[in-house]
Amino acid sequence: MLPFAIKKLFFYAYQKGMMKMFGCVFCQVAAHEKPAKILYEDELCLVLQDINPKAPVHLLVIPRNHITSLNDDLENDKALLGHMLTVVGRMAKEQGIDGTGYRTVINTNAEAGQTVFHLHLHILGGRMLHWPPG
Ligand code: AMP
Ligand code: ZN
Repeated sequence: MLPFAIKKLFFYAYQKGMMKMFGCVFCQVAAHEKPAKILYEDELCLVLQDINPKAPVHLLVIPRNHITSLNDDLENDKALLGHMLTVVGRMAKEQGIDGTGYRTVINTNAEAGQTVFHLHLHILGGRMLHWPPG
């Protein structure tokens, strides 16, 4: 049995390879080339339901243009990043989890469990969320 950390690194390499071969899944969603449950969109970003939800409410806020992760040079994207955070609050209200509470998460690279290499902000809510996360 391979240790979990090694498996994670293999999965990370596999996902990056898949993206090279088949293109970026969230770019395809943003271009409406791939079906997704899109709850909101504007000129800068979209909000979709996570295909494999980890909580009763699990949404993803993605920028319309491709950004790989928070490791990119984001000097020129400050307005976009701020805008994405304003969309989080709006979606939380719409989903009725603003009062009970919700978590916003951005995973970056292998050890954090990033599997899609197009920046995305998770919104998780609708159940008790434990801290620290696993
Ligand atoms: P992360 O592990 O932080 O990179 O998160 C990627 C998230 O994208 C996971 O929660 C996946 O379930 C989700 N996901 C992957 N492909 C799709 C898709 N086509 N539509 C919606 N969510 C997706
Ligand atoms: Zn992309």
